[in-house]
Amino acid sequence: MRSVRPPAAHLARMQPYDPKCLPARAFLSANENPLDVEDKLRQEIARELKRVPLNRYPDPLANELRDQIARAYGLRREQVLVGNGGDELLFDVALCWGGPGRTFLNLPPTFSVYEANARLTHTKTENVPRRADFSIDEEAVLARVARGDVDYVVVTSPNNPTGNAAPAGFVRRLLDTTDALVLVDEAYGEFCDESVMPLLGDYENLLVLRTFSKAYALAGVRMGYVLGAPTVIEQLCKVRQPYSVNALSQTAACAVFRNRERFAPAIRGIVAERERVFGELAAMPQASPYRSDANFILVRVPDAHRVWERLYDQGVLVRDLSGNPLTSDCLRVSIGTRQENNLFLGALAEALGPSERKADR
Ligand SMILES: *Cc1c(COP(=O)(O)O)cnc(C)c1O
Repeated sequence: MRSVRPPAAHLARMQPYDPKCLPARAFLSANENPLDVEDKLRQEIARELKRVPLNRYPDPLANELRDQIARAYGLRREQVLVGNGGDELLFDVALCWGGPGRTFLNLPPTFSVYEANARLTHTKTENVPRRADFSIDEEAVLARVARGDVDYVVVTSPNNPTGNAAPAGFVRRLLDTTDALVLVDEAYGEFCDESVMPLLGDYENLLVLRTFSKAYALAGVRMGYVLGAPTVIEQLCKVRQPYSVNALSQTAACAVFRNRERFAPAIRGIVAERERVFGELAAMPQASPYRSDANFILVRVPDAHRVWERLYDQGVLVRDLSGNPLTSDCLRVSIGTRQENNLFLGALAEALGPSERKADR
């Protein structure tokens, strides 16, 4: 067979994104909603999908959905852009505010996609690592952006994989300190009381990302959105794939967004389960969970990779973060149904050995 010449040189050190999906009894590794869209709403979606013309291109900007989202937040259509998952919009931001000779400020440990996008767009990544408790080193971030060379920053709130939200006061100080684009990734915002959305009117350099993949149970549909200044949205429109958001996804997302209050009880249930799981983990002598504002918990355990294997042997799939030096002894577990969470807690107690509770010692 004739060989192909090498691809672009910067791909040599990159690996394809691998979510490590393996078959399991309890699938607690991807931070999805454990409950699918309820039957009645699914039927409503199915009826609407039947009427979607498949031979026609979709509305490139999904204006019906844009308008719904804009109305819900008291914004204008021009302040909203939807994408094929939040992931597409993250890449669009890197295309617009990154590039050769430009700089991205990252606050690791955080979502790995940001740095991958920076590499793909030949953007330099500067890191201000989080403190030992994974809180943001606020003064270090402010000092770093004050040097003036940072073009965009991503503040993930609540942060993945650590679970903690960024203090709104810090985001405001950051926005006041720099004219860099500040992307606040609120992919898990529905599980948390705080949002920086109220700041949108005051800052042209603020962009907020949300997704339908987590709280709204549409990870399979691929739909995310950003809220920001019309001037920023306009730039993103220049780089986006024209028909990235297909007609079926637009229709499904419109129906879910219109009915989003129906998800509120399930979201409250996940938050209640999160607090219960946290308490159970905190009572295990060998586990140290971190407080979470999201639908997952980061937990420190001895010999994390070995524990991950033992959990998987029991049919429980969680995310192994031991490959990253900043989270070398950590696992991330998504909050599932009560039964799934119990399966996880039981398997973890077994994996960690003698089941002596802290309180009993
Ligand atoms: C899940 C996630 C997203 C977006 O996911 P999509 O499924 O592409 O919408 C964005 N940021 C973070 C931190 C996430 O965890």
